[in-house]
Amino acid sequence: MSALAPYAADPARTRGRRHPEPPASPRSEYQRDRDRIVHSTAFRRLEYKTQVFINHEGDLFRTRLTHSLEVAQIGRTVARLLGLDEDLTETIALAHDLGHTPFGHVGQDALNACMRAHGGFEHNLQSLRVVDELEQKYAEFEGLNLTFEAREGILKHCSPTNAARLGEVGERFLNGGQPSLEAQIANLADEIAYNNHDVDDGLRSGLISLEQLAEVPIFARHLAEVRRLYPQLNDRRVIHETVRRMINTLVVDLIEETRRRLVVHRPESLDEVRRCPPLAGFSPEVQAEHLELKRFLFHNLYRHYRVVRMSEKARRVITRLFEAFVAEPRLLPPEYQRRAQTHGLHRTVCDYIAGMTDRYAIREHKRLFDIEELG
Ligand code: MG
Repeated sequence: MSALAPYAADPARTRGRRHPEPPASPRSEYQRDRDRIVHSTAFRRLEYKTQVFINHEGDLFRTRLTHSLEVAQIGRTVARLLGLDEDLTETIALAHDLGHTPFGHVGQDALNACMRAHGGFEHNLQSLRVVDELEQKYAEFEGLNLTFEAREGILKHCSPTNAARLGEVGERFLNGGQPSLEAQIANLADEIAYNNHDVDDGLRSGLISLEQLAEVPIFARHLAEVRRLYPQLNDRRVIHETVRRMINTLVVDLIEETRRRLVVHRPESLDEVRRCPPLAGFSPEVQAEHLELKRFLFHNLYRHYRVVRMSEKARRVITRLFEAFVAEPRLLPPEYQRRAQTHGLHRTVCDYIAGMTDRYAIREHKRLFDIEELG
């Protein structure tokens, strides 16, 4: 591995784990974190959880698993070029969606509504709950016992009320600090990944068209270049060639702009990074173009009537499951009934539903509501 920059998160100087453990050697502490994510149950479930398209709509669309791998790929590239710790960036990228509910954003909104009077539901906080307590694999502790830096990065957003309950890892949401650059990069790699793959999946699904996207400057300029270089190319390849160029433009811009900010602020340590304004970012021009792409996707894809129809079904599935379990806790699997005794019924039901994959939630809904199904 190449030498770490002074502003990088150095695994040898981690703030450590909540439950002290012997050193991870010969791996670094962040490699161990990454490996624990890969071996977790929640990580495997990402294969059957979705972002925009529900899992059974087609095998070609991204799932949260392939999304997380794309985030890790982009994150590692940027981290390496900036002298950051690649393993920590990868850990955060692979873990960032572990707390996501079935059915993407609509699932999370539905659970949040169900939990309104009981502390709400935040998916970033849920990702932290997964790695801190919900994974039950190790003899000596609950959760995966990750390093502070990994936990800090996974908790991308957090409401002040919840932050106040979290101790050290919540502090930055109260005092305005930043996480490591590795976390900032993972966060922006997430944005690059989903905007670009949603363009690709949106086109593949037929919900949006190349003609529509030709109105979006960042897409239009790369599309024009591909058409000029390869006038005979079929649409499938044109789309891929355009998307890969967009990703490259965003990644190169992110690296250059972040380097520029590093020269201005000159942080000499991770703690100085935490006290600086956000150091990772896009240049103002590319940021504006990127926002335009996001807006396009919001109006034309996420709000497409076919997506909305699917989303509303998903919302009803989540809400009805929640109501049924709360009304009759004996419908819960026995280990969750036991957990409800100590952790509260609503939070336990919420954790149970949040952990479900799309298809498991659909099946569970059928089992509970279809009289012809076996319970
Ligand atoms: Mg994501």
